[in-house]
Amino acid sequence: MPFDITTQRNFNFTANDAVVTALLTPAEIEECERWQTYLDAYTFEFHPLHQTGYPIYFRPDGNTDSSNIPKIDTKNIGNGGTKYNLVTKIANPRKLTDALNQRQLDEILSIIKDSWDTLKIMAQRYWTKTDPPVTAARSRMQCGKCKTNFYDANLGAANAFGKYTCTHCGKQEVKPVL
Ligand SMILES: [Zn+2]
Repeated sequence: MPFDITTQRNFNFTANDAVVTALLTPAEIEECERWQTYLDAYTFEFHPLHQTGYPIYFRPDGNTDSSNIPKIDTKNIGNGGTKYNLVTKIANPRKLTDALNQRQLDEILSIIKDSWDTLKIMAQRYWTKTDPPVTAARSRMQCGKCKTNFYDANLGAANAFGKYTCTHCGKQEVKPVL
């Protein structure tokens, strides 16, 4: 179910975070190049009213400001690593440089650079209230004789009993596992 985008939402950019898992498919999570490791230093954030550019905000822990939170544009920027190669390229950078140490700042830049596609997908789905696609379970067939499993396999035509020829043992005993 899509998020209520009228509410501020902070999260850690980690593979098991509830916001991350709600916006990405398991395969997309698997493909993400870099995750956040300084979990107590800052959060990623979505907050309402400024939807232009599908922004993702970065809020240092303890910061309670209600405006001018450091942010990136994920919609109109093709290559985040090029655009945001310095912290000063991020909007409102002082709030980051005043609060975070160099390693934490470097991590934010590395995430933007290495996980740009992931961030773009998350922000786009969040701001357009779109659920991630449901990934279809792979259909499995199994040979009744030798028990070999076949996933999404093209085994040719079925015989009169709806069974396929096993490429492992040669018996016509392969059928879909329901
Ligand atoms: Zn077989």
